Amino acid sequence: MPITSLPFDHTYARELPGFYAPCQPASVRAPLLLFFNHSLSEELRLGLAGQDDAALAALFSGNALPAGAQPIAQAYSGHQFGHFSPQLGDGRALLIGEVIDRHGLRRDIALKGSGRTPFSRNGDGKAAVGPMLREVLMGEAMHALDIPTTRALAVVATGEAVFRERTLPGAVLTRVAASHLRVGTFQYISAHGSLEQVRQLADYAIARHEPECQEAANRYLGFLRAVAERQAALIARWMHVGFIHGVMNTDNMGIPGETIDYGPCAFMEAYDPGAVFSSIDEMGRYAYQAQPRIARWNLARLAETLLPLLAEAEGQAIELATEVIDAFPARYQHHWLAGLRAKLGLSGPGDDDAALGESWLDLLHAQQVDFTLAWRRLADAAEGNEAPLRALFAGQPGLERWLQRWRERCAAEPAVQDRAARMRRTNPWLIPRNHRVEEALAAASDEGDLTLFEQLLHALRQPFDEDPALARYAEPASGAFMAEFRTFCGT
Ligand code: AMP
Ligand code: MG
Repeated sequence: MPITSLPFDHTYARELPGFYAPCQPASVRAPLLLFFNHSLSEELRLGLAGQDDAALAALFSGNALPAGAQPIAQAYSGHQFGHFSPQLGDGRALLIGEVIDRHGLRRDIALKGSGRTPFSRNGDGKAAVGPMLREVLMGEAMHALDIPTTRALAVVATGEAVFRERTLPGAVLTRVAASHLRVGTFQYISAHGSLEQVRQLADYAIARHEPECQEAANRYLGFLRAVAERQAALIARWMHVGFIHGVMNTDNMGIPGETIDYGPCAFMEAYDPGAVFSSIDEMGRYAYQAQPRIARWNLARLAETLLPLLAEAEGQAIELATEVIDAFPARYQHHWLAGLRAKLGLSGPGDDDAALGESWLDLLHAQQVDFTLAWRRLADAAEGNEAPLRALFAGQPGLERWLQRWRERCAAEPAVQDRAARMRRTNPWLIPRNHRVEEALAAASDEGDLTLFEQLLHALRQPFDEDPALARYAEPASGAFMAEFRTFCGT
């Protein structure tokens, strides 16, 4: 039964003419549903319960868009590895509509890999099964870790080949986002449009994401501050689970503060502040520890586009923007420290908490200890079971000294009954382990076998619960695997 209509709205298309190009998805040869996110579909109130796979595949391949869809390719620019590309835009994505979800929030629904658009440049507009399923795994893992993220609604295999370094099976991903507004969207309008259009975009973003700023004396300053605050919180969350985005270009930084673009991302295994996995990030611009600094740099690019709106006199506008950008490191530190305390099992602030955390991380680094397991075993130590933690450290005396400090710090707080349990709610047992992700994607892409993908996805949905049946998903990859491990932009 074909799906004939969806409750789509189109505020972006309606309110921001000139910021996009209308464009139809390419039709695909043999759509086959590989993944459908039923619970997300319910959350979005799409009314798709009971639809058969063929109808969902026809819809989410772009072959049979329902009435009410109005596909557009959004325009944006971006600083890529520090260099400004004035004309990027959706080269292989189409926003098909917006819906209001169960919580009353407006969400974008977009296809990715749906064919060429006016922004495709030399690209084919296509996507492959492996990278699109990877986006499912990473996004759903982040969601289960309670980290703001875009999410995958569906993946449909196209039955067509995509030509990269080798021939791959093609796929279309359906992505859901609080919006697809990016720092790069502002850069595009600032570079190509009028001041009035920059104002239009900012007003749109404020109405959609920061309605409380509408009352502020300087709404655009309030907006900049709110975007920076959300990024500070987001990057702190990334750091606390060892997430490395891998390609923090300004076009991959979302205004709503969700993690977006799961191309070359990876979770760190052994703790290494300099960790980089992306094959194209040769200089380590987007290394793990560089992420807060890069976020600030990207926000400065956003601030530049807003200058004419911040104040009439340029000098004053620069002063206001600089204040927000200069405050970013402290705002980031605030969120990082709050997260650190939770991970350490502390319920209130202490003066030396940052130093306590740093010296713990130094220990992990010195011994190349697995980041996720070390935190998890620290929760066991909080209830007196220290052996599993010690086993990770190969008898390092520094660990004993540090544990002593930590125990004293914990003892200085009113006795907490459920410290270990609280630590387990913030220190995940499971992250998407790189070797598990790779084996699942290889089976799906090379053999069309989704069993490992589905099992892994199931495991990643409960990252805080230790389940012996899922132990293989908690095991770190071997050092040899990680030494060779590289990620690629999802093209
Ligand atoms: P990304 O690295 O995914 O953030 O993409 C950067 C830019 O390249 C965006 O404008 C994309 O739409 C575009 N792009 C990436 N892959 C393709 C492709 N296969 N065909 C057309 N455009 C692409
Ligand atoms: Mg991108």
